[in-house]
Amino acid sequence: MQPFQIHRPSSVAEALAALRGAGEGKLLAGGQSLIPVMKLDLAEPTDLVSLAGIDALRGIRSEGGRVVIGAAVSHAEVEASPDVAAAIPALARLAGAIGDAQVRNRGTLGGSVAHADPAADYPAALVGLGATVVTDRREIGADSFFTGLFETALVEDEIVTAVSFPVPERAAYAKFPNPASKFAIVGVMVAATGQGVRVAVTGAGPSVFRVAEMESALADGFRPEALDGIAVSSDELFGDGDASAEYRAHLVGVMARRAVAECA
Ligand SMILES: Cc1cc2nc3c(=O)[nH]c(=O)nc-3n(C[C@H](O)[C@H](O)[C@H](O)COP(=O)(O)OP(=O)(O)OC[C@H]3O[C@@H](n4cnc5c(N)ncnc54)[C@H](O)[C@@H]3O)c2cc1C
Repeated sequence: MQPFQIHRPSSVAEALAALRGAGEGKLLAGGQSLIPVMKLDLAEPTDLVSLAGIDALRGIRSEGGRVVIGAAVSHAEVEASPDVAAAIPALARLAGAIGDAQVRNRGTLGGSVAHADPAADYPAALVGLGATVVTDRREIGADSFFTGLFETALVEDEIVTAVSFPVPERAAYAKFPNPASKFAIVGVMVAATGQGVRVAVTGAGPSVFRVAEMESALADGFRPEALDGIAVSSDELFGDGDASAEYRAHLVGVMARRAVAECA
């Protein structure tokens, strides 16, 4: 790992200034993805800008049919939040199934969505629930936020400040986890929302995606059997030592059915 300078701003404006003043600056949230990447010398920032001291990035609040979660809120805090449990229990359960206790205590919502790991759980929650990513300068709908493998719509120095989740009528997340890391080999979020039914898949391909055929079948009848006969193509899916592309395609159907059954 290369030497770096650490900055500890107490506001988003100070964080932005530190980033812009750095040679090769990187935001540091929980460090659960960034530090391993730095240890492998895949990122060599000259400056790390810690978000830990910025109160504006903390807190969970319910307002007007939405739950707004600060970017620096840890997975463990989402899991334990009475607001999240009451409004979107599927989101609390998703957070509680991320990694292990250390990862859940250090890792943050903002870090997870900014990193956009193809096997991360939160992308399925954001897209499945139709959430909005709030940054220091704009709001980005989840459908256009995740743009590819470890890629998002964020520009170079943009800071995620919160994610705003609309409260669904019902929702559930089913994951087939890697037994060691708990990352999703396939994870599916199914939600009946004010904007219709949404089905979002993570882990299977380079980026989270929706399954339109499943969404319209569930709109006609929200029950697991509605998904019978719907096959997801394996063409664009990952195949690796954990699971072939064909097995991942099969798992999408199985996890989607489980999620719908859990909603009932
Ligand atoms: C052993 C292990 C198991 C794991 N298992 C799972 C799992 O089962 N499911 C899962 O979803 N994840 C899993 N993770 C990943 C974990 O959820 C991380 O917490 C998450 O990917 C990154 O969050 P972080 O807060 O640690 O971000 P960091 O590592 O600090 O940062 C990650 C990236 O995001 C950027 N960033 C951070 N915050 C912001 C912000 N507010 N705005 C803009 N950019 C920002 C950083 O600059 C960096 O590029 C696992 C990680 C480990 C080490």
